[in-house]
Amino acid sequence: SQLLTDKTAVVTGAASGNGRAIARRFAEEGADVVIADVQTEPREGGRPTHEKIEAETDARATFVECDVSERADVKRAVEAADEFGGLDVMVNNAGISGPEKSFVDLEQAEFEKLMHVNLNGVFYGCQEAALKMIAQGEGGSIINMSSAGGLVGVPDASAYSTAKGGVRLLTYSLAAELGEDGIRVNTLHPGVIETAMTKRDGSIIGSGRKELLKRGDVSFKQLIKGSVRGEIIKRHAIPLSEFGDPKHVADAAVFLASDLSEYISAESIAVDGGMVNT
Ligand code: NAD
Repeated sequence: SQLLTDKTAVVTGAASGNGRAIARRFAEEGADVVIADVQTEPREGGRPTHEKIEAETDARATFVECDVSERADVKRAVEAADEFGGLDVMVNNAGISGPEKSFVDLEQAEFEKLMHVNLNGVFYGCQEAALKMIAQGEGGSIINMSSAGGLVGVPDASAYSTAKGGVRLLTYSLAAELGEDGIRVNTLHPGVIETAMTKRDGSIIGSGRKELLKRGDVSFKQLIKGSVRGEIIKRHAIPLSEFGDPKHVADAAVFLASDLSEYISAESIAVDGGMVNT
């Protein structure tokens, strides 16, 4: 049986990586999904993701162009859930990684850009979703995408860590306020997941990557795909000995969206192969 039958979810940043995997897994579990992203959906086999999801699952899916750092866009994305009968699950997933830079070199504009997308974006998403869920009167689940970097400080990623730590405490505060309305609010904390984000600039890989690149004998592509992969995994001490896949994040999101977690709120789940707590 399916875990999300009769539910509607809005997933921000769902044109790529973790968000896209979450939207697809939700649809496989029976949820109708609103895919919201600042970039248009990639075409897979000639069709955008939401059409592919509709063709390959029993769920309905739609796309909304949305920059999460613009409140009006986020409101539109949340309202799009009405097309499918209202909002049950809000996944504030959209995020960017910052420049890999020491704190003293970080420019104010770079810091603020990170905050606008990774923290303000989650604030808008939570507030618009909460208002709607309260008005509907049937509770709901809000899932905020933090990071391993929202549990521990990451060198050369102070803005990213600040925003992600803020997401975690925003989540706990909201859980305290919204529990009486039956709204659960939780965070996910991916470790090193192979998505466009980590492949593109590797900022989440952090200092380990920088050291290896400094040697000048490896490209970032080699670093992620090639023989030095083991070295990175060792450096990050990932007990399960592998980088993660967006599917792993999506499976945890299904749990938090579903009634399997009906008594879980203000909780943080790391999806990191055991990295942060070891
Ligand atoms: P990704 O780059 O593959 O996907 C991010 C998506 O968010 C893209 O589709 C992008 O267009 C969208 N996006 C960016 N800015 C946006 C904006 N202003 N408004 C709307 N959409 C926007 O990256 P990902 O790895 O899938 O990241 C998804 C989330 O997971 C992020 O919040 C990220 O911080 C978090 N995360 C990722 C990792 C990892 O290792 N990949 C680790 C920890 C946390």
